[in-house]
Amino acid sequence: MTNGSLEERIRKEGFRGDIRRQVPMQDFTSFRIGGPADLILFPWDLEDLQLLMHLFRREGVRYLPFGNGTNILVSDRGVREPLIGLSQGFGEIKKEEIKVTAGGGVGLSQLLRFCADNALRGLEPLAGIPGTVGGGIRMNAGSQDIEMENLISSIMTMDHQGQIRRLKREGLIFEYRGIHLPAEEIILQGEFSLQEGNGKEIKERMEDFLRRRKEIQPLSLPSAGSIFKNPQGISAGELIEGVGLKGFRMGDAMVSPLHANFIVNLGAARSGDVLGLIELIKEQVYQKRGIRLELEVVIIGEPGAAG
Ligand SMILES: Cc1cc2nc3c(=O)[nH]c(=O)nc-3n(C[C@H](O)[C@H](O)[C@H](O)COP(=O)(O)OP(=O)(O)OC[C@H]3O[C@@H](n4cnc5c(N)ncnc54)[C@H](O)[C@@H]3O)c2cc1C
Repeated sequence: MTNGSLEERIRKEGFRGDIRRQVPMQDFTSFRIGGPADLILFPWDLEDLQLLMHLFRREGVRYLPFGNGTNILVSDRGVREPLIGLSQGFGEIKKEEIKVTAGGGVGLSQLLRFCADNALRGLEPLAGIPGTVGGGIRMNAGSQDIEMENLISSIMTMDHQGQIRRLKREGLIFEYRGIHLPAEEIILQGEFSLQEGNGKEIKERMEDFLRRRKEIQPLSLPSAGSIFKNPQGISAGELIEGVGLKGFRMGDAMVSPLHANFIVNLGAARSGDVLGLIELIKEQVYQKRGIRLELEVVIIGEPGAAG
């Protein structure tokens, strides 16, 4: 038997961080899509996060870690599980020789700037990926040139019991756009092993990668990046283009005419529109090419269309 609302119980437990309720997720995602999240919690520090874990475990509350919302599609009906964001208390970046340690809430762009300012090279191909360190490690974000796994030397996480774990690279299993960790494990920090370089050259390389990205990705419209993982040996974009779906539209969701593995929001797209396009793409690619596309984007929230 529990008393009061979850928010009241969280405060009673001693949580000091920011609590936002009924947050329209369209304001918190790069897709600009999604109904209300009942609660978003922004712990201030490890202790704050730990007491959430203890309370949630005791009460059997499921939760979801949340970064910059740049690789998620949130249901029009919103999210009942509390979301936990690290942007307010886990934003530290430190350097020790060629190692840089960044909190899970640090934006990748901020991390890259720090590296350039400190003449440390390695992360430049990630320029323009709009996520956080935590979300980036969880998704093993990257490009053809490099993925997170190539530069991570260790990570620090908290499990659902509030236990802090330090995991060295040798013990981590990364895969294409993922890492083997329990879904509820929160990535608190990543340590990157870089190389010494020249600050000016590093900045130029970053600008170069950004320029290339602007040429091939539809960055002027809201999206969640690539919708599907690339199957072995072929790009998902080419497959989608090959079945004639470039520019195809459902409601305000459209397969980008620039990059067919991006679905863009033309203004008022609903998650139902995007899910409809996803199903159509999967079906057509399977029928015509015999390949089953797998989602890269993470779908969260209450299933079904908004009432
Ligand atoms: C225009 C655009 C271009 C993009 N280009 C690329 C690209 O080139 N390469 C690429 O790989 N991706 C790309 N992406 C996708 C996205 O930016 C990356 O996957 C990014 O790493 C997601 O980080 P995030 O903080 O936004 O995570 P979110 O979208 O908030 O979350 C993604 C997943 O990570 C989990 N998560 C978030 N934070 C944590 C944490 N601290 N601990 C544990 N789990 C966590 C969430 O629960 C969710 O399952 C692009 C996206 C956009 C919009």
